Amino acid sequence: MKDRTLLMIPGPIEFDPAVLQALGAPTTSHVSPDFSEQFGRALERMREVWQAPSGQPFVLAGSGTLAMDCAGANLVEPGDRVLVLSTGVFGDRFEDLLSRYGAQVDLLRAPVGETVDFEQVDAVLRQTRYKLMTATHVDTSTAVRVDARRFGALGREHGVITVLDGVCSVAGEEVHQEDWGLDVVLTASQKAVGVPPGLALLVVSHQALSVWGGRRTKVANYYVDWAKWLPVMVSYEKGTPGYFGTPAVNLIAALDVSLGQILEEGMERRFARHRRFGAACRAAIRALGLGQVPTSDAHAANTLSAPRYPGGVKGEDLLAKIREAGAILAGGLHPDIRAEYFRIGHMGGTKPGDLLAAVGAIEAGLKACGHPLETGSGLAAAQSVLFG
Ligand code: PMP
Repeated sequence: MKDRTLLMIPGPIEFDPAVLQALGAPTTSHVSPDFSEQFGRALERMREVWQAPSGQPFVLAGSGTLAMDCAGANLVEPGDRVLVLSTGVFGDRFEDLLSRYGAQVDLLRAPVGETVDFEQVDAVLRQTRYKLMTATHVDTSTAVRVDARRFGALGREHGVITVLDGVCSVAGEEVHQEDWGLDVVLTASQKAVGVPPGLALLVVSHQALSVWGGRRTKVANYYVDWAKWLPVMVSYEKGTPGYFGTPAVNLIAALDVSLGQILEEGMERRFARHRRFGAACRAAIRALGLGQVPTSDAHAANTLSAPRYPGGVKGEDLLAKIREAGAILAGGLHPDIRAEYFRIGHMGGTKPGDLLAAVGAIEAGLKACGHPLETGSGLAAAQSVLFG
């Protein structure tokens, strides 16, 4: 542990020792009473974290992309019209994914750094009848946050199933799945949910389940078919094991612990803490004279930030210097601007000291790369937001 460098990328994040301890505990049988209890409790806790009291949770072994695939495969049939709202790389991914299942996809792509224009979406929905639409709550390639409440409301108003990619938002950004009328909210374990990579997590509304139940064709993907997994989830939630494929026993034990910690903090407090961290990080970036990818704070994510490199500073050099100063950050991801920006993750159990350590390392890195700055100016800006 001594040589560990602070990991502040937008997932995987730093994990809590109690979560890692659960992950490292001896593996029990997947049909044992202890594991059944843990799995059942984790499913119940998902409903609370997602704020979807009547939603159906699913836990599959896989990454966030599998959760996207699971939603797409179960809800789309050949010929269905689908609207994809994209604010970056992960929105675009849905276009490719859903077309594999035979959907006729229309893509509405926001300019890089901009959020979804819901007036435009409303107009499009008035013209064309879609079965389903997708949005990315926080696109990790741009740090742009979409108004998920408006997305859900438009879905309900026009009778369109809504699928929200919450991979970089659930358990960090505010989500009230049921109140906001969202049909599927999906994520992966390694981000704000705070569990090492390996779990695809979804909560599905009754409406979406009944659309799935009325399919004319078989689900084209064998592994993710809800017909296989629904009885398993229902059974574990009753405290009795079910089987289709061996569950990721240790990861699910870790999920139970992490969801317990999240609920102990309380969802409203957790959302507020993420908002504070987002504002503090953006204030620090501004104080250091750097631009940011989101064109406005009003739609900037609170789970990660995306500063632009200042003129004359080479990205690779800066990230290497920041790492030398003690923090691992991520480079750019969006193909149009990849070399122009970097990314700082501040979600999950991030502490104020972690954020300050990252900002301090950025200051040190910028100085080492010759960018003029007043030492401590980023730290002061972050602290004034964090501590008032
Ligand atoms: N959606 C978003 C918003 C993401 O950030 C990611 C991962 N960075 C994914 C989907 C895909 O998740 P995974 O890498 O776990 O497959």
